[in-house]
Amino acid sequence: MTDRQFAVLGAEGPKAYFASRTRRTLGHAYLFSGVPGVGKKTFARRLAQSLLCAENGDRVLGYCGSCASCHLFESASATHPDFLEHNGTLKIGDSDGAMGFHEGEDLTSRDVVRQLMMRSYSGGMRILLLGDIEFATHHAANALLKFVEEPPQGVLLLLTTATPGKIISTIRSRVSELRFSSLTRNELVQILCSEGVSSDEATLTAAMAHGSLLKARALLGAEQEASLRSAVAAWFFDVVEGRTPETGWATRETLDEGVELVRTLARDWMVLSTQTQSPVLAGDFITRLRELRPLQSSAAIALLASLDEARSISTTNVPPAMVAERIRMAVYSAVR
Ligand SMILES: [Zn+2]
Repeated sequence: MTDRQFAVLGAEGPKAYFASRTRRTLGHAYLFSGVPGVGKKTFARRLAQSLLCAENGDRVLGYCGSCASCHLFESASATHPDFLEHNGTLKIGDSDGAMGFHEGEDLTSRDVVRQLMMRSYSGGMRILLLGDIEFATHHAANALLKFVEEPPQGVLLLLTTATPGKIISTIRSRVSELRFSSLTRNELVQILCSEGVSSDEATLTAAMAHGSLLKARALLGAEQEASLRSAVAAWFFDVVEGRTPETGWATRETLDEGVELVRTLARDWMVLSTQTQSPVLAGDFITRLRELRPLQSSAAIALLASLDEARSISTTNVPPAMVAERIRMAVYSAVR
């Protein structure tokens, strides 16, 4: 038998709590609270995987990672029939017809309650995760309240929220609340590194992320986007102004976005050259664009056509550097 695992970093309090439970002493409904991006939903999914794992016996935390049930949790295309997850606002159902569980915005409290009454597929528990729970109306909350007042056997309800104060007190008083504290810098660095971020960058980002993985990912994303944007623009202005660009920007990952930005810059350049009333799209480069020599209309048309062509070959397996070179030639001939 494989070793059991529980791949969640941080959350020491909730881990200690569930480690001290057995399936018999486990509650029927929990509220995980804590600021966004500290791993509440990840913890809830791993807890569900543990409880549905075929190899986990009476324990609460830990799963084998290799049984059929675990495979469903690791799969990108399938979901475990006894684990249901919905994120966001719950509405009150206006349809009482014989509808099955459906994911998405239309999930209502009545759907949830109906689901909770159904029998387990695997003969074990049924687990429902309502992430970042919000109730559209009091009626929606009341529908769920009926469940927490008289929970059916074998069902576990997991709620997560960053704002526990917004959960109506009649529900809040009937669920066990577990606080998730912010991730430590060290934990953030470990998670980011496991996602392929370099350790220098992970350390720097973790220092600014205030213990939130969500914030760390946003910081990294914004940084990458901003640096690609300025690299492509610098390259474009170099080419237009007749300098040899110092560095390239085109890789398989950056090609689409880079080609799009060059097209936008070329289009803005044309708009400014023809004095039409169309708005400039790349507003952050308007000063640089205004300084460019006006583009002749025939050259503009040829340039935009070449860029369209570059965009369509960028979706083939032509090497990114060759696509960038075609763009460079097109821009070069537009100014000459
Ligand atoms: Zn398993």
